Amino acid sequence: MKDIIERFIRYVKINTRSDANSNTIPSTYRQVLFQQMLKDELEQLGFDEVRYYEKNSFLIAKIKGNSTKPAIGFIAHVDTADYESENVKPQIIENYDGNIITLNDEYNLDPNSFPNLKNYIGKTLITTSGDTLLGADDKAGIVEIIEACRYFIGNTQDKYGDIYVAFGPDEEIGKGADLFDVNDFPVEFAYTLDGSVLGELQFESFNAAQAEITIKGVSVHPGSAKNKMINANVVATQFHNELPLLESPENTDEKDGFYMLYDIESNVELAKLTYIIRDHDKTIFNHRKNMMFKIADKLNNLYQANIVSVEMIDQYYNMKEIIEKDMRCVELAKKAMLKLGVQPQINAIRGGTDGSKISFMGIPTPNIFTGGENFHGRYEFICVEHMVLATNTIIEIIKENQ
Ligand SMILES: [Zn+2]
Repeated sequence: MKDIIERFIRYVKINTRSDANSNTIPSTYRQVLFQQMLKDELEQLGFDEVRYYEKNSFLIAKIKGNSTKPAIGFIAHVDTADYESENVKPQIIENYDGNIITLNDEYNLDPNSFPNLKNYIGKTLITTSGDTLLGADDKAGIVEIIEACRYFIGNTQDKYGDIYVAFGPDEEIGKGADLFDVNDFPVEFAYTLDGSVLGELQFESFNAAQAEITIKGVSVHPGSAKNKMINANVVATQFHNELPLLESPENTDEKDGFYMLYDIESNVELAKLTYIIRDHDKTIFNHRKNMMFKIADKLNNLYQANIVSVEMIDQYYNMKEIIEKDMRCVELAKKAMLKLGVQPQINAIRGGTDGSKISFMGIPTPNIFTGGENFHGRYEFICVEHMVLATNTIIEIIKENQ
C-alpha cells in the first residue's frame, strides 16, 4: 500500500494533460517527458525490454515469461483530461469517517452530493486540493500495472507467460490508440486499466461516429430576398428539428444511444453542424448514421438545390463485437476478481476506451477498474485499498491465465 501511494502521488504531480487542438504526436510534449521518466523507471525495475516508439508515442515494456502460457497485455494512458492539471496537490485522508471532506476554502467533497462516498468509510482516500483534477484517470492504471509487474520480476515460484505493458498518449482526446501497432504487442488478449469503481469489468462500448453537416445558403439583401435567399441559419435549425430530440445525451442512459449537436457555426451564407452519434447496437447505430443523410436529402428536395451535405467519420466500434467471439479474457478477469472477494460489476461503457480500437485491431481488450471516481474534475478521488485490489486483480489474471 505504501509503494502504491508513493508512486501514485509522484505521478499525479506531473502534468500530462493532452490537447485536442494540437496536431502533433503526441498532442503535448509533456506526455513524452513523463514516458521517458517511466522508461527509466521500468528499466531500473528490471523489465526485460523497454521501448519508446516515436511513431505513435507508445511506451511498451515486456517481462519474459517462464512458461508456455499465452502472452498477456496491460494498457493505460498517460494523458489526463482537459481540465486544470498544473500543480496537482493530492491530499491523503486516512480512515475516512464518512463526513464532508474539505478540498479548499471553496470546494468540498460532500456525501450529500456524492453519496458514493459512504462506500469508503474506514478506507484511505486520495483527493484533490480543489483547484485541479487528480489525474487518477489514468495514473492509477499506470501505478497498478507497474506494481503488479514488480511482483513477477525475478519471480520463479509462479508460472506465467510473457507480460506486455503499454503506456500510450492522448486517450482523452480520442486519438492515442489510432496509431497503436499490434506488431509491437504480440499478446493474445489485453486489458485497459482505465475503469472506475471496485469490480468494474467492461467489454461493451459505444459505436461512435462524427457527422459534419455543411449547409450552403444564398445571401441576398433582406429587402429584395423574396424567392432568392436561402438562409443557412434557418436550414440548420430545420436540420436539427428533424432529429428525435429526446435521443440526446441529456435524455438517455444505460443502453440508449443518441445524437448530440456538438458544435455549430452558422451565418446566412454558411452553416456547419457537428454531431456525434453513439449507440451500443450496430444496427441502430447504422440507422442513426443513415438518418443524417436522409434529412439532408429531404432538405435538398425541399429547397430544390444541393445545399446540405454530410461528411461521416466512424470513430470507434463496440468492442463486444470482437470480444464475444472469445470470452477468455472476460472469464479470466471475473475469476481473478472473485478469488480476491471482489464482485465483478459488468456494465456497458457509455463511451469508448483505447480497448474499443485495439480490440478491432485484433487484440480483445476489455477494461477493468482502477478504484477512482468522479474523473475529469476537482471532485476526483481514489480509494487506496481498491488500488491494491486492482493491482492484485492484475496479478491473479497473470497467475490464472492458462
Ligand atoms: Zn481514462
